[in-house]
Amino acid sequence: MSVITDRYSRQTLFPGIGEEGQRKLGNSCAVVIGCGALGTIIATSLVRAGIGKVKIIDRDFIEYHNLQRQVLFDEEDIRAQLPKAIAAERHLKRVNSSVEIEGVVADVNYANIERLVAGADLILDGLDNFETRLFINDVSLKHGIPWVYGGAISSSGMTMNIIPGETPCFRCVSASPTGGGIALTCDTVGVISPAPFIIGSLQSAEAIKILVGAETINRDLIIIDVWEGKFSHFKIGRRADCPTCQGKYDFLEARFGTKTTSLCGQNAVQVVNPEAGEVSFQRLAAHLKPIGEVSYNEFMLRFRVDNHEMVIFPDGRAIVKDTNDEALARGLYAKYIGV
Ligand SMILES: [Zn+2]
Repeated sequence: MSVITDRYSRQTLFPGIGEEGQRKLGNSCAVVIGCGALGTIIATSLVRAGIGKVKIIDRDFIEYHNLQRQVLFDEEDIRAQLPKAIAAERHLKRVNSSVEIEGVVADVNYANIERLVAGADLILDGLDNFETRLFINDVSLKHGIPWVYGGAISSSGMTMNIIPGETPCFRCVSASPTGGGIALTCDTVGVISPAPFIIGSLQSAEAIKILVGAETINRDLIIIDVWEGKFSHFKIGRRADCPTCQGKYDFLEARFGTKTTSLCGQNAVQVVNPEAGEVSFQRLAAHLKPIGEVSYNEFMLRFRVDNHEMVIFPDGRAIVKDTNDEALARGLYAKYIGV
């Protein structure tokens, strides 16, 4: 028995995969976008399962509060100040040298996503923000690449497969273009590790099923709560007036989404989120208070955390001070304000 067949023997013994399924996995390319709690679970599963090529894209560095749930990283990665995508690539290359693993440090947006997913058979969502998922959804439907949505926060999470031409798309299930304004984020309400672990595992299982062409691919929206011990399936229908399903890729064409502008001479970046709607400062302040300094009046909310100061306006617009780095500003906005 060769090293390769021996490595996957427990998987090829499983009738749903077998030798033929293993060959299909070995000839597949998966792109994992976002390498936090979900992404580290997904990437480790796919690399260990012998997917031929795994690309891991993330824009962040590793911090101590990530280690509670982001299973691929350790304290040494933090001391070395490694970006998540690079640390993930290094760890996983030691796990399975027969897989082509590429870590990419990038902020995924409408301008680069088509290039980043070119040649992919499948996209896996390990993100913590809504906006990038809308780019994934557009690129998925435009190029016929299935994607597996996943999200986890607090003690709950959800997942759904989006298979172009077969299932509803992500925009079908979200009422407003970006899901309705200010969202809760892990940085404001917390998350316990079993929630992303289970969702990431379900996403990995769906990835393998999609790549081997299994008949048991999930077509429901699955929602779990590990604290309550609840698992629920929901049948979702395609929305008749969904623009994306009708071939209008508004997000790729940058008709929606967060836009950043460096404010010349002010050393500040403005972040505009046209879909934020009216922001409740009272609600936002309550979420932000445990993690930084917050003050507000009826015109603006000031928030200071980790040497950064942000000013948020009632329409969801924000000014991030003391930086000209638009990717950083967009990242802070997604992390603390939620898009
Ligand atoms: Zn749709």
